[in-house]
Amino acid sequence: MNDPIQFLFDLLRKRGNNAYFGEAVTETEHMLQAADLAERSGAPEALIAAALLHDIGHLLHERGERIADQGIDACHEQLGADWLGTYFDQEVTEPVRLHVAAKRYLCQAEPGYYAGLSEASKQSLMLQGGPMDAAEAAAFVTTPYGDRAVALRRWDEAAKVPDAVTPPLEHFQNTLKAVLKI
Ligand code: FE
Repeated sequence: MNDPIQFLFDLLRKRGNNAYFGEAVTETEHMLQAADLAERSGAPEALIAAALLHDIGHLLHERGERIADQGIDACHEQLGADWLGTYFDQEVTEPVRLHVAAKRYLCQAEPGYYAGLSEASKQSLMLQGGPMDAAEAAAFVTTPYGDRAVALRRWDEAAKVPDAVTPPLEHFQNTLKAVLKI
């Protein structure tokens, strides 16, 4: 692929206009909001890129929206991270790969976290294995990039605000370029 960033932006523009799994924002709005929150938090470029691309796996497969309603877990985090791995290194791909595990971790580790999830996020959690048990959570904190995945997860949950104003995709072009490995 000549220009993976252009490919990703085209994908977000053309295929990211579906509602984001039962939320009041589109998939692309959701990912822009997550990236904006990461940037405002002073996150490193690789983590801003991960926030922007964390759900790209949803756009890379063909099952359409609301698949959780059909009882399907598309493992979008694996699909997205594997695809991104051709163009970005682990600082980008691993927070993406672990952002579902981070939700399962936070539901175990942080009282009240589960209660704060949206209904759609609670529903997908069950398909993703439910909250971690204590042993799984203890293992997760030692996982490389686990802490970054937890940070990403918090932006993910917060990035569901209808009509929020964010920078456009182009705003993040230089950030993506800076962390591109090829
Ligand atoms: Fe998300």
